[in-house]
Amino acid sequence: MNTPPIIGIDLGTTNSEVAFVHETRPEILRDGDDGILPSCVGVDDDGRLIVGTTARNQAVAYPERTVLSVKREMGKEKEIPLAEKRYTPQEISALILKELKEKAEKIMGRGVGHAVITVPAYFTDAQRQATKEAGAIAGLEVVRIINEPTAAALAYEGSHAGDERRTILVYDLGGGTFDVSIVQIEDRVVEVLASTGDNRLGGDDFDERIIQWLVRELKQQHHLDVTENRAVMARLKSCAEKAKVELSQAATTRIEADHIAEDIHLSVALTREAFEGMIREEIDRTMQSVTKALQDAGITPGDIDRILLVGGSSRIPMISNMLKDKLKIDPSKEIDPDLCVALGAGIQAAREMGIDTSGVLIDITPYTFGTSAAEFNDEGLDPHVFVPLIKRNTKLPVSHTETFYTMVDNQDLALIQVFQGEESNALDNILIGSYRFDLSNSEAGSMITLKYDLDLNGILKLEAVEKETGRTLNAVIDNVFACEDPDRVRTSQEKINGFSSMGAAAKPGKAHSGEDTIPPDITDTLTLAREKLDVASKEDQDEIIDLMEEITDAVEDKNFEKARIICDELEDLLFYID
Ligand code: ADP
Ligand code: MG
Repeated sequence: MNTPPIIGIDLGTTNSEVAFVHETRPEILRDGDDGILPSCVGVDDDGRLIVGTTARNQAVAYPERTVLSVKREMGKEKEIPLAEKRYTPQEISALILKELKEKAEKIMGRGVGHAVITVPAYFTDAQRQATKEAGAIAGLEVVRIINEPTAAALAYEGSHAGDERRTILVYDLGGGTFDVSIVQIEDRVVEVLASTGDNRLGGDDFDERIIQWLVRELKQQHHLDVTENRAVMARLKSCAEKAKVELSQAATTRIEADHIAEDIHLSVALTREAFEGMIREEIDRTMQSVTKALQDAGITPGDIDRILLVGGSSRIPMISNMLKDKLKIDPSKEIDPDLCVALGAGIQAAREMGIDTSGVLIDITPYTFGTSAAEFNDEGLDPHVFVPLIKRNTKLPVSHTETFYTMVDNQDLALIQVFQGEESNALDNILIGSYRFDLSNSEAGSMITLKYDLDLNGILKLEAVEKETGRTLNAVIDNVFACEDPDRVRTSQEKINGFSSMGAAAKPGKAHSGEDTIPPDITDTLTLAREKLDVASKEDQDEIIDLMEEITDAVEDKNFEKARIICDELEDLLFYID
């Protein structure tokens, strides 16, 4: 613990982040924010230096007192005017680094004097030297400069102890730069085989395409020319970026800005398809760079083991589709493309401190989670339709609610099941939880809402609510990312939670028919078991729960004979518990 802490920094053209290994995992340091600091420095109305979001927000309105993309100037002998003063590129970068250093100190509660900083693979010695100087000005000794694609590869592969050689293509599209690199990792050593790209291509250009389109729309619809009006152009820029980001999720979006001129309001729809048309040429160019990188490295597409998407703009869906078409592999996007490089820098920083890391905490769910429900389709009643509530690749934490309806009058129970998988027949997926929910015998079509909450630690909370009565069932399943072995993921705790709030009879799915109620003798045994569960020893609890589950399963199969045999066994056990 005497080793001085070393932080990892992605000093980006558009955005910067800082990471630190906590225990064994690199984490982005967040101070109640998303951890992303715009690489932007400015002077505010009162003449004070500002760094980050506030500086970025004033950039279009006050360009003369804002500096953007200083990274492009690194290594050049020049001075950058800012308000009345002049600064070297290193000094401006140092202001950004200082902001990150202070944030790290605040969060870690101690002084930080050392850092690993990433730079593009093509950076010259002079540019690397300038980056080190920026660190020194900010009070950070730069213990190592590493290449951005190397950091990205470390974030993805750093935890794999495997020593077989892997060849990785890193496609990094940021705000103003595009880099594609081929890296090879072997024995935990990463080497950049080739790196190419375009340092004048990125998300800003895509925003600009949308802005130009909006300017044309305003001209055509309202005969209004806003190009000289900085305040309006600033608003169009933020609308454009917002629309672009939305189109990475949605097929269409609406851009709205009131009072562009006195009584003129902007309101236009933009489809993903139209946006793709605007940027296709640029994306095509990036694909040509991919080909060039492969050639430079002397390899063919078949040699690539993995494609990593890095940089905020790599979220544009067209990009992964085109890469997949071209290289015949699905690009990996488990690690947030905005944070990937900083996390890799954090891993390298830990190595410098002599700490072994266990890899990046994946912050998206690798699996789909859902429930089973009955549904009428063309072929009649399908009792086991898989209804996904949380889809694979969704960012965590996430919460989703679906509504279900009872199927018959007087339905008194619903079996709420949790499955992991992608198959449309729920039974082909892995069952990781099963809970009986006592209903109030209301009429068919009564509403039940089912909510899943999944957090970063793989804890899945579910809540079912009978709308009419407010009756609620809560359960918690731990460790759902370790789903390979379904029996292992259920902890006693969730089992108890589930059982203690359950009703007396069940049938799978959202819709249940009343005729399948459990015979009263079996229900009595289950009720007794629930009562004794609280006072039983931990060992007995586990056994009781297992038997209760076996009974439920037998009842589900309508094998009441088997259920009764297990009931006898359960009763024997309960007899000794007081
Ligand atoms: P840099 O490496 O240049 O510092 P980043 O990797 O932080 O940049 O990328 C910033 C760019 O990513 C910005 O242009 C931003 O608008 C864009 N971006 C962020 N999220 C998305 C998204 N979901 N879809 C498309 N572009 C995005
Ligand atoms: Mg970047």
